[in-house]
Amino acid sequence: MPTKITIGSVEVVALVDLPFELPWSMIFPGREASEIEPYQKMYPFANGKNGLQTQAGAYALRSQGKTVLVDSGLGPGPIAFLGGARGRLLDDMRDKGVDPDSVDIVAITHLHGDHVGWNLDGERKPNFPNARYLIPQGDWEYFNTMLETNAQMGQVMPLNDLGKMNLISGETELTADVRAMPTPGHTPGHTSYLIASGGEKALITGDVAHHPAQVNETTWCPVFDEDSSESSASRKRVVEMLESDRAIAAFCHFPEPFGKIVRIEGKRVFQAL
Ligand SMILES: [Zn+2]
Repeated sequence: MPTKITIGSVEVVALVDLPFELPWSMIFPGREASEIEPYQKMYPFANGKNGLQTQAGAYALRSQGKTVLVDSGLGPGPIAFLGGARGRLLDDMRDKGVDPDSVDIVAITHLHGDHVGWNLDGERKPNFPNARYLIPQGDWEYFNTMLETNAQMGQVMPLNDLGKMNLISGETELTADVRAMPTPGHTPGHTSYLIASGGEKALITGDVAHHPAQVNETTWCPVFDEDSSESSASRKRVVEMLESDRAIAAFCHFPEPFGKIVRIEGKRVFQAL
């Protein structure tokens, strides 16, 4: 399992804040065991002891002399719903040669608490002091009241007061090789980040899928999707693009951080690199 790949001239580093598990009922609500079991056999890396094996993941990109961090994990914790677990994103970055001070852009896929956790330190100063933070406008508007009251969302609002934040909507260029691509549904402003360089492509897909079964079963939605018909449409569009363009797929929650979408016996399959 590689943790660093290159797409043309762009280096992509897979980062882990922390691994955790979620109940299958949250990932595959309303599905029969007989529907799920073939996919559990097909993807053993996604089987935890008691449910889905997942992670709060992030990616660092080096492109055109800039360092871009996509998402910032659950944060230092202690994280109540995970029994007081603590994230280690900043340590994982340093272990993999990415200095938090070198980050020029923090690009957020969406405003759920497991994607913004390390934005600010305990004194509400940016953990990435030299970065602009890009926040999807659709989420900024949708989660507005929660941004003031929810502890993890407290990782977002102060960025505005500090003048460190830009709202993005539509396709937005981050560097000549990296651009934001709206993939709404999981949240209204959910955004993926497309890397295209030297004839190669990769897509950091955020929470377009939580389990690789969804690359085939594009209408299967976890309880977390705000609008399941819209998230299903985005998922279908994304996996079709990944398959036809032979692009690398990078799903933030998969324990296998990079893969390809291929067809085997008529079904779409996520093949880890
Ligand atoms: Zn998530």
